[in-house]
Amino acid sequence: MIESKQRLATTAEVVAELRARRAFVMVSHVKPDGDTLGAGLALGLALRPLGKRVYYFQQDPIPRNLRFLPDADKVSRTVPDDLPPDTLWVFCDMSDSSRAGEFLPPIARSNMLNVDHHLKNSHFAALNYILERESSTGTCVLRLLKELGAPITPPIATALLTTIMTDTGGFMHSNTNAEVLRISAEMMERGADKDLITNEIFANKRFAAITLVGEALATAHIEQNGRFCWSVVDDAMLVRHGADGEDTEEIVQHLRSVEGVEVAALFKSFEGDVRVSLRSNGRVNVQSIAAALGGGGHFRASGLTYPGSLPAAIEAVRAALRAEGL
Ligand code: 5GP
Ligand code: MN
Repeated sequence: MIESKQRLATTAEVVAELRARRAFVMVSHVKPDGDTLGAGLALGLALRPLGKRVYYFQQDPIPRNLRFLPDADKVSRTVPDDLPPDTLWVFCDMSDSSRAGEFLPPIARSNMLNVDHHLKNSHFAALNYILERESSTGTCVLRLLKELGAPITPPIATALLTTIMTDTGGFMHSNTNAEVLRISAEMMERGADKDLITNEIFANKRFAAITLVGEALATAHIEQNGRFCWSVVDDAMLVRHGADGEDTEEIVQHLRSVEGVEVAALFKSFEGDVRVSLRSNGRVNVQSIAAALGGGGHFRASGLTYPGSLPAAIEAVRAALRAEGL
């Protein structure tokens, strides 16, 4: 049994635990993205040939553009009821275990492994493998696989390249350093299908998505002397375009790309919930803004669910930005 500890786990300690356990559940965060899913799938794909039992838990449906991931069809919102008591639950890409949602059974802290790259991770597990400098959780997993001596097969390489391309925005975000490109080249050499990933994640949009993006951009607001650009998508807009929440992904990226903008926000008001996506161009830390409002994330990309109305959410973000000097 591993001891609860505050300090971060080393690669060797995590790998010793991976070797010792017989069964694993890879847990991804709600509204999953390519990093949380790809990281867990890559780890599972590497562990199964070692004779381990591997399951994947996700409470939400897999987004259409991530169903190409190897073994995506094995991801489920339930887990078998005959799991051994020493099953290791591997939380991928989560600053806190609450990001896994509400449907996990109670899990002892000693049976939790937390693999993540977020700022301000809450260290909720017995083993916390947190590498804040990594571009994606997938590259944290790659370190584990190398220490484990696991072969990087083409499906694993595709899963890992997906995590990188997701979290670097197709190599465009500032977290794309030389090391990221070297690892990506290595994944391609090992058989990762970059064109498939590019097509599925960055192209292949439904027509409804394109017209929805058009309306969200046409109704965008710009304020604070051009430094804050924001827009809203609500249920009525989705209905008008025949779109759904998955079709909103790229909107905030467009808002951030406006000349002079420091922070972009997309307010998504769906079924009574207000979700906020925040993006920064590097001067303002949107992680701290999201955290102040109950969410979290990274310096340049963060999110939250606002416990109130849409107008209140917009006002709260404005106030938080003013407090940050925007
Ligand atoms: P998105 O705007 O794409 O929903 O989220 C951007 C990033 O912010 C995510 O990759 C995740 O790191 C973080 N994030 C989004 N929503 C939440 C939230 O509700 N709580 C926390 N702690 N982080 C979030
Ligand atoms: Mn990530």
